[in-house]
Amino acid sequence: MSRYAGVRLNHFLPSLLLLGGGLLAARLLHLSEFFGSLFNVLPTLLLLLGGTFCLVYGRQRELFLLLVLYLAYFVLDIQTDYFRSAGRVRSDASLVFHLCSLLLPLLYGLYGLWRERTHLGQDLLARAAVLLALGGVTLALARRYPEALLQWLALIRWPALHGDWMSLVQLAYPLFALVFILLLAQYLRSPRPLHAAQLLGLLGLLWMLPKVFILPHALQVMSSQVMLMLVAAVAHEAYQMAFHDELTGLPGRRALNERLQRLGRSYVIAMADVDHFKRFNDTHGHDVGDQVLRLVASQLRQVGGGGKAYRYGGEEFVLVFPGKCLEECLPHLEQVRQALENYRVQLRDRQSRPPSDRQGKPRRAGARAQEVGVTMSMGVAEHGVQQDPEAVIKAADQALYAAKAAGRNCIRSHGQRRGAIRLASAGG
Ligand code: GH3
Ligand code: MG
Ligand code: MG
Repeated sequence: MSRYAGVRLNHFLPSLLLLGGGLLAARLLHLSEFFGSLFNVLPTLLLLLGGTFCLVYGRQRELFLLLVLYLAYFVLDIQTDYFRSAGRVRSDASLVFHLCSLLLPLLYGLYGLWRERTHLGQDLLARAAVLLALGGVTLALARRYPEALLQWLALIRWPALHGDWMSLVQLAYPLFALVFILLLAQYLRSPRPLHAAQLLGLLGLLWMLPKVFILPHALQVMSSQVMLMLVAAVAHEAYQMAFHDELTGLPGRRALNERLQRLGRSYVIAMADVDHFKRFNDTHGHDVGDQVLRLVASQLRQVGGGGKAYRYGGEEFVLVFPGKCLEECLPHLEQVRQALENYRVQLRDRQSRPPSDRQGKPRRAGARAQEVGVTMSMGVAEHGVQQDPEAVIKAADQALYAAKAAGRNCIRSHGQRRGAIRLASAGG
């Protein structure tokens, strides 16, 4: 499977919408009173609500990202407030602004890439210590040597690479680029909504910083939007965890229960169960068993006839066909059953695995992989008069028992006499 197979547009979609909305709203010179007040309190609200949620559910990475964003927003907001009321910048404006343009991408990248450790308390302490140490040293330097620090920050190190459009300190640009590349690599290695949100959030910050003193609402609007991207990604991942099965990527039992509430008058439910899976696990190991479950799921996902597959639990799956009758579904189920039956799972001898991939490649070319087959049995039931979805599932489960009793690798429908439908029992 391609390593980029997990890349999904829907990981980016909420953040893209927020970024687009932010770019539009931040460009406006006048926001209505309602939106003006909203964006004034939104960063604080998001820190309190999102931060509490992250703290309670052990999402330290997002907690510290929110904290870093809020701190940058807070110190820059003091500057822009002064600028707006006094009509000129504060005496320390350049120093604060330049420091923010360096520390914000630095800390954002650091916390965005810093993986959670198993021990929550230690993880939290380590992250807080880094923030305090870096913040403390910066504050001490800024107080003690403000002029020297400002000169160091504003220094144009590579005149040939300097463009007139660069309104941030020159160092900030390679730093943003480096953090972007690292966050992109992180997303490609492990594609998930949070990593996508971090990537787009960084772009939002890069757009925002040069406009802080130019556009009146850029700071409030874009800080809010980037914080919202992170909070939305946390919610998105929580939803995925609750409704999606991690191993197979199929929707799980909760998603099925939700779907069952919204079925109309006619539908068909099929239960599928891998044959002799315990024996397979015992012979080849649990991780090969997991691979087989992924394979079965990928076959079931392709079922036609408008059917949708769910992982019911263990090696059991449910297929739901809304608006269909039994006769319409059986050929599609049979197609999936046959596809799995014809699939050969390649196994390599685990004992003789080479210690490294380099040594493995030439060996693999010559090695003969052991091939094994996997089959599944299915039970199908149709919605009848006065039956609720649970009763239909139960009927499908009874039909599944019948399929197992008939020798496995076959399909039985509820109420069907033994061997009554040849099509449905083709493999049995
Ligand atoms: P039958 O043909 O009658 O269905 O036999 P079976 O061995 O498939 O049925 P049984 O229900 O006895 O075994 C199910 C096995 O599925 C037991 C359990 O170890 C295994 N199993 C359940 N969930 C997982 C999982 O997530 N990964 C792996 N590898 N195995 C699992
Ligand atoms: Mg079972
Ligand atoms: Mg089984």
